[in-house]
Amino acid sequence: MQIWAIANQKGGVGKTTTSLLLSRGLAQMEQRVLLVDLDPHASLTRAFGVPTDPPPPGTHDIFSDLGGADLGNLARRTPIPGLLMVAAQPALATLERRGATQPGLGLALGRALHAARGRYDYVVLDCPPTLGLLMVNALAAADRLVVPSQTDPLAMHGLADMLRTAEMVERSRRRPLPRHIIPTLYDRRTRAGVQVLGQLKDMYEGMVWPRAIPMDTRLREAQTLVAEEPPTGRGAEAYESALRWLLAALPRQQEAA
Ligand code: ADP
Ligand code: MG
Repeated sequence: MQIWAIANQKGGVGKTTTSLLLSRGLAQMEQRVLLVDLDPHASLTRAFGVPTDPPPPGTHDIFSDLGGADLGNLARRTPIPGLLMVAAQPALATLERRGATQPGLGLALGRALHAARGRYDYVVLDCPPTLGLLMVNALAAADRLVVPSQTDPLAMHGLADMLRTAEMVERSRRRPLPRHIIPTLYDRRTRAGVQVLGQLKDMYEGMVWPRAIPMDTRLREAQTLVAEEPPTGRGAEAYESALRWLLAALPRQQEAA
């Protein structure tokens, strides 16, 4: 089982869209995939049409039932064959406060996933845009980190912050956390977009997918992305290509290490 954390400390950079399309792509390759919504805003959960009032069983139970949470009871089917998902509950937002006082909470997700390791080939973690307990759990558990990064000048700071956080986590857990950057929301008609993509490739050579996910209105409606007949087009094709790159990237990095 491989765990991929999709994270960036910035919001609106395409984390949820990336989580969805990579998971869908893996499921289409006949892999057993579990997608976990770790964001209290629950946009992924809503995309799947899961009602949030009353709160569904989901991610929060992993943290309230320390050591005892069975992901098998929390994972729900989706319209995409092979793809299961764990819903986010609004109560996730209160977790950060408890995190400071309750020991062991930082590893709760990793433990629950470890207990379920025979059931899935891939686990994809859709992270919140804040550096808190949920993101730390995801980074502690992950085998790799995928950072979607918008191709605009301001996004470079957020990306640097995220990569620094990943280094810190890597040092404390003493296990490599390979990092991959996926440029998103790319508009090749703007000079800023083209410049930033060039900078990304120069600064993070080898770590960054050398293409970019284009702006594509067909990707804007998350609900349509989880339908049995998902949209096709430039954006969806770009994600398929990014997934192939990610799948090929790890062995290369391991050889280099
Ligand atoms: P995050 O999870 O980082 O907050 P989202 O994946 O929710 O980001 O994306 C933010 C917004 O941008 C959403 O409305 C989403 O539908 C839209 N979006 C994401 N990627 C694209 C794209 N390639 N083209 C057009 N719209 C996109
Ligand atoms: Mg999101």
